[in-house]
Amino acid sequence: MIARTATAFPIELVVNSRPLGAITVAPAFRQRSASRISAVTTTAFSFTRSAIQSSAASKPSLTTTRETKGCCGTRKGELLTSVTGTASRQATRYTSSFTGQASASIRMCGERVTALLMAWQAAGAKRGFFPAARRGRGGAVKAPAPYDAIVLGAGGAGLMCAAVAGQRGRRIAVIDHRPEPGAKIVISGGGRCNFTNRDAAPDRYLSANPHFAKSALGRYTPGDFLEMVERHGIAWHEKTLGQLFCDGSARQIVAMLLNECSAGPVALRLGEAIRDVTHGDTRFRVETDGGCYEAPALVVATGGPSIPKLGATGFAYDLGRRFGLKVVEPRPALVPMTLPGEEALFRTLSGVAVPVVARCGTAAFAEAALFTHRGLSGPAILQVSSYWRHGQDVAIDFLPDRPTGWLREAKRSRPDATLRRLLSPLMPDRLAATLAERMGASDLLGRTRDMVLADCETRLRAWTFRPNGTEGFAKAEVTVGGISTAGLNQRDLSARHLPGLHVIGEAVDVTGWLGGYNFQWAWASGWAAAQAL
Ligand SMILES: Cc1cc2nc3c(=O)[nH]c(=O)nc-3n(C[C@H](O)[C@H](O)[C@H](O)COP(=O)(O)OP(=O)(O)OC[C@H]3O[C@@H](n4cnc5c(N)ncnc54)[C@H](O)[C@@H]3O)c2cc1C
Repeated sequence: MIARTATAFPIELVVNSRPLGAITVAPAFRQRSASRISAVTTTAFSFTRSAIQSSAASKPSLTTTRETKGCCGTRKGELLTSVTGTASRQATRYTSSFTGQASASIRMCGERVTALLMAWQAAGAKRGFFPAARRGRGGAVKAPAPYDAIVLGAGGAGLMCAAVAGQRGRRIAVIDHRPEPGAKIVISGGGRCNFTNRDAAPDRYLSANPHFAKSALGRYTPGDFLEMVERHGIAWHEKTLGQLFCDGSARQIVAMLLNECSAGPVALRLGEAIRDVTHGDTRFRVETDGGCYEAPALVVATGGPSIPKLGATGFAYDLGRRFGLKVVEPRPALVPMTLPGEEALFRTLSGVAVPVVARCGTAAFAEAALFTHRGLSGPAILQVSSYWRHGQDVAIDFLPDRPTGWLREAKRSRPDATLRRLLSPLMPDRLAATLAERMGASDLLGRTRDMVLADCETRLRAWTFRPNGTEGFAKAEVTVGGISTAGLNQRDLSARHLPGLHVIGEAVDVTGWLGGYNFQWAWASGWAAAQAL
C-alpha cells in the first residue's frame, strides 16, 4: 500500500538517541503508521550545505535506487523510516548528524521495517549504510555484518571496484581513514580530473613486468569509462595527447562513482582508522576504530605514499609484506626535479615555460618544461622524473624542430645576428639570453667559428644536467614501484598464494604516464578485481 504525501508533517529521525534530521510525511499517514512505517521512498530531499559537501547530495530531486530486505524489531520513538534515495545514502556517508527534510511516499510493509531501521541506525552511528558489528541488548557486540569483500581505500580504484562488485550483487564494505572519498580525484587535473586517456596502452606504463597491465587495461578500456561518464551526463572535452577532462568539476567523477556504488549493497565506512588486518579460516578480518569487518575477500586499494597530506600512506606495502607479497622500491614519480647549485642559472628563469623534448635514458617526452625556483617542472620533466634515478643525467632539447646544421646555415644567411637574437623568436627571450650567455656565444654569428656553432647546436639539442633529487612524495603525483606484480595474477589482481586477497590501483607496481593513464589503471584494475569478488 502506498501513501502519498499531501500535507507536510515532520517526523524527526532519531538514531541511537541522536537526532539525524527530519522527514516530512502526511499527518494521516503518520497516525496510521506510528509504529509501523516501513520504507520512505524519497521524491524530494535536501540537506543543509554545512552538512553536505557533495553537490549531488544536495540536489533536491531524487528517486529510489534500491530496497533493503530484512527484519528486526522497532521501538516507539526511534527511527522507523528509511530514505532510500541516492543522495540520502551519500549524505549518510558524509556526516553523522545532518539536518534535512524530505517529501516522501511511504510504503507499508512490516517485513521491511526493521532492515531499513537498522540501516539508518548504522548511518547515524558510523556514516555508513550497513552496521559493522552490531550491539545487542546490554551492549554486547554481535558478529560483524556479513560482507562478501572488504575494500581498503575509497580512492578511484577502491570505489570503482566496490561499485562494480556491488552491482554484481556482492556486499561490500569500503573502509578509508579519510572522512571524504576520492581526495585525489577531487584535486586532479587542476580540479577538472584528467579521468582517462584515449591512448591508454600497456606501453604507457612503468612496471617491473611491462606485460602485467595488459589484461586489465584490455578488458576495461578508456571507452568503457567514457561510457559511464556520459551515462551520468558529465560533460567532457579532449585536451592534447588524448587526455580527457571534465568540463565542470572533478567532483562530478567522485559523485558518479558514489552513485554507482549506491546501485548495490556497498557500505562506505569513512573516517575509520585501520587498526589491524588479519587472515584466518579463509576469512579476512579488519579492525578499525569504528568496528570490525569480516569477509572472504580483501581488496587493498590504499594507493601509494604520494601527497601524504591527502591521506596517502605506504599502508599497502606494509600489509602486502605481512601477507607475503614483495614490494618494488617505491619512488616519487611525476614529480618536479631539483637542481644543484651549479645549475643556479635555471632558477633565475623561475616561471619560464618552453616546449622541449626531455630525455632520461631511453625515455623521451615532447611537452613543456617549466623552470622553478628549485629546478625544473612542467609535463616533460614530470614524465622523465618517473624514469629517473639518482646519479642519472636528464637532457633537454630546446630546439627539437631545427634541422641539423641550422646554426651554420644561419651564420651564412644572418651573419650580423647574435645567437641570442637568433634564439629569441624560438623561445622566451629570458631563456634565449641565459642560454647564449651560458654558452659564451655573444659575438656576431659571422665572426663565430663553425666549430663553436656546432658545439652550441649540440648543447641546445641536449642540454644535460644532473638533478640532485626531486621534490619527493610531498609533491609527487604518483609513486613508481609498489606491490610486486610477480605475486599477483594479472587477470584479477589476486595474490597468487593467498586466495581472496587482491591489490589494485596505485598500490601495485604499475605506474602510468602523465595524462589520465593513472586513473585508467585505477578504473581498470578495480574493475578486473571486482569480476572475481
Ligand atoms: C595532485 C594530483 C593530481 C593528479 N591528477 C591526475 C590526473 O589528472 N589523471 C590521472 O590519471 N591521475 C592523476 N593523479 C594520479 C591519481 O590520482 C592516482 O593515480 C589515483 O588516485 C590512484 O588511485 P588509487 O585508488 O589507487 O589510490 P588513491 O586515490 O591514493 O586512494 C587511496 C585511498 O586509500 C586511503 N588510504 C591510504 N592509506 C590508508 C590507511 N592506512 N587506512 C585507510 N585508508 C587509507 C586514502 O585516504 C585514499 O582515499 C594525480 C595525483 C595527484 C596527487
